[in-house]
Amino acid sequence: MSTRCYIGLGSNLEEPLQQVLKALEELAQVPQSRLLESSSLYRSDPVGPPGQPDYINAVACLETGLEAHALLDQLQAIEQAHDRVRKIHWGPRTLDLDLLLYGDEQIQTERLTVPHAFMTQRNFVLWPLAEIAPTLALPDGQQLDLLLSQCPVGTLETISL
Ligand code: ATP
Ligand code: MG
Ligand code: MG
Repeated sequence: MSTRCYIGLGSNLEEPLQQVLKALEELAQVPQSRLLESSSLYRSDPVGPPGQPDYINAVACLETGLEAHALLDQLQAIEQAHDRVRKIHWGPRTLDLDLLLYGDEQIQTERLTVPHAFMTQRNFVLWPLAEIAPTLALPDGQQLDLLLSQCPVGTLETISL
């Protein structure tokens, strides 16, 4: 059985654009999985401590035969391969891969909260997600288009490559 899931990508260190493009290629290599679609790349203001460089963000849709925690293992291995160092909470990073949605499952474990805890408040998640899944609803029934209308676009801009 395979599950359609959505992954949020973000980077604001060491050539963020290249980090995100490379991560998309690596997502396509995840075992038992197929990369179905990826959004445009977006530039956004940093979350967390001030003075950080801007972020590059995107959202990818993966169809996977992996269980959610096994998928998280794969995402964290890709982060590690990008020399991700966890220092300050919400501090700058070479690569962040967050599991936004895993089918219509709601997961709450020590390692994993799905849907991602802050996704409904983040323009850099909702806009790229809407680009590839405009009619999506969250497991609790919230419609993406309604969430979007409640979330400011802010300084988010699409990057043309
Ligand atoms: P945020 O969660 O606010 O986006 P972050 O992405 O910077 O912050 P990380 O340092 O990447 O946070 O992750 C911290 C921990 O979050 C990880 O060790 C992981 O186990 C846990 N986690 C919980 N839910 C998820 C999820 N849906 N996707 C990725 N990691 C998650
Ligand atoms: Mg994150
Ligand atoms: Mg993360």
